Amino acid sequence: MSQASAWAILLSVFLSVSCNRPQTLDESRLRGAAQDSANWLMYGRTYDDHRFSPLSQINEQTVAKLGLAWSRELSTTRGLEATPLVEDGVLYTTGSWSVVDALDAKTGDVRWTYDPKVARERAYFICCDVVNRGVALYRGKVYLGTLDGRLIALEGRSGTPVWSAAASDSTKPYSITSAPRIAKGLVIIGNAGAEYGVRGYISAYDAESGKLSWRCYTVPGDPAQGFESKALKDAAKTWTGEWWKVGGGGTPWEGIVYDPTLDLLYFGTGNPTAWYRALRRGGDSLYTASILAVHRSNGQLAWYFQTTPGDNWDFDATQPLMQADLTIGGRVRKVIMQANKNGFFYVLDRETGKFISGTPFVSGVTWATRLDRETGRPIESPGYADFRPVIASPSPDGAHNWNPMAFSPATGLVYLAAKAGTQFVHAPDAKWKYNPDRTNLGLDPLYDGPLNARLAWLPAAKGELVAWDPVKQQAAWRANYPTVEGGGVLATAGNLVFQGRADGWLAAYRASDGTRLWRFDAGTGIIAPPVTYSVDGTQYVSVMAGWGGGAALFNAPGSGPVRPGYGRILTFKLGGTATLNPPAFGHQEPPTPVLSVSASPRVVHEGGLLFNTHCAGCHGINAVAGPLPDLRYSNRDTLERIEDTVLGGNRASLGMPSFQKILNPIEVRAIQAYIVSRARESAKAAGNQLK
Ligand code: CA
Repeated sequence: MSQASAWAILLSVFLSVSCNRPQTLDESRLRGAAQDSANWLMYGRTYDDHRFSPLSQINEQTVAKLGLAWSRELSTTRGLEATPLVEDGVLYTTGSWSVVDALDAKTGDVRWTYDPKVARERAYFICCDVVNRGVALYRGKVYLGTLDGRLIALEGRSGTPVWSAAASDSTKPYSITSAPRIAKGLVIIGNAGAEYGVRGYISAYDAESGKLSWRCYTVPGDPAQGFESKALKDAAKTWTGEWWKVGGGGTPWEGIVYDPTLDLLYFGTGNPTAWYRALRRGGDSLYTASILAVHRSNGQLAWYFQTTPGDNWDFDATQPLMQADLTIGGRVRKVIMQANKNGFFYVLDRETGKFISGTPFVSGVTWATRLDRETGRPIESPGYADFRPVIASPSPDGAHNWNPMAFSPATGLVYLAAKAGTQFVHAPDAKWKYNPDRTNLGLDPLYDGPLNARLAWLPAAKGELVAWDPVKQQAAWRANYPTVEGGGVLATAGNLVFQGRADGWLAAYRASDGTRLWRFDAGTGIIAPPVTYSVDGTQYVSVMAGWGGGAALFNAPGSGPVRPGYGRILTFKLGGTATLNPPAFGHQEPPTPVLSVSASPRVVHEGGLLFNTHCAGCHGINAVAGPLPDLRYSNRDTLERIEDTVLGGNRASLGMPSFQKILNPIEVRAIQAYIVSRARESAKAAGNQLK
């Protein structure tokens, strides 16, 4: 062989290797994600967060042949909310306790797993389950926000940590459940904790080094310390009293989106602390319950729009934001859209923040009658923000929550999981005082008035997949289902919309008219959004199946059929023949009471109020649990040693923290009496022979 031909062979080998080598996931590749049909590179697939895939192998004609390709157990019975990302045949996702898995996207084989080892007692300061909504990918790294407030960069091929930043003060009840966002060399992350009392902010870190670039607070701090910006100085005029001692709230706990052309970041903020306006002594409490736009380069405020001024109902504005260019009134507008917890669908000009339109997307909204046509400020219904017990709709679970929505450019419709007619007794507590060791809602924990009974007689809430026309501000179609909670949504060029739901069904609908074309029994409730991608010419649809989250743990009666179970990732393809045999979860028989009730009916009643205040957030209202242990089934030893658990913290390593700072032994005994009583009631109702 001549030297020249040897070089030619070497060159051709080099070229073939470089051509096959996956491209670096850099800024230009992220900006071109819409054309990169094989991959799902970002939280909402593209920067505009449409969650729309151009793949169409699975379409309205072929979807009937969709079958399971593979599934992978994730060793959890808690909520799974992540959007899996797919880059060149590797799928990256997150599960309970901020654990990351990298899997072969074609087979489900595990490449690596990274466990940030979050201390399980952190669960005490996490309102709505130990969930995580996914990672971000950039230049060979995987970025993760953890429940205990760290932002971690992992080496993409191995899952080895590269850097870790303290994205929040670990001595305060901050947490992170959202996916980080990449924006031109920066990683942006928010935080949660407004139910407890913290000061919300987002932070930008250099993606390569992990160095903090800037931080943007959402509420003003102590005026005596000076304000970080003019925007915060202005915001302080909308607060009264000493809000900074409580923290203020306004935590941006869900998605942050980015417009690379305008170089603006957008995000929504949570409730002020406490929930009730009167407990904060009035005012709009800027910038809580708001949509904010900040400049990517420095985090300075570009504009804000407050969806619920002076929030009184926990109407976080943190639901996923979506960008689009829509023709409205004969003119193309760059808009940003949100289906807010408060029941209104907002369309804003994303260059200026100017209100374009807003209409209720569900029936039964009671707290406001409409939005002002010019300003978008809600016209509140008389009496609904008064300082007295009132039933308001939507409930703090919202008419729509964190579950991502999708937009199909083919139909011009936004698809979202809506909850119509959710109701809640807001009973403000005049005696509320800030307590750093517990939630600080300002809700009267022991309210026992007539509204509790009335709530049971009101029409039940219903869940529906809504196809919303954002230009006409009206529904094109609605698909009802028997359960209240529906999952995130995926839209595809196959004229399909995919959505899972609380009763364990994953379904595909025709995007243009809502006809259900396919469904699959996942064996456990689904709240996460499906994604789609392709490997070697085959299209796959993948979803995290795991019932959990705030509503699941509370397990309120009237939620419709729900399916707690074992969490797994499910992946489908045309002609897939894999099977799923989920093991039975929970108790098939009524409880067998192991103790008799030794306390008076009054103590049992008080124990019930305490249970629903302190325990129901995880173990279910009226002691009927969802994914976590149902205490009616506790054995004798567990019940007799209840103080060791509730006060002594002997199960802290399992996620059951000590309540020593807020409950005393007499109260714990009352809770024990209530649990015993509930076990006996349940057994009796089932016709069991009492021991
Ligand atoms: Ca909230």
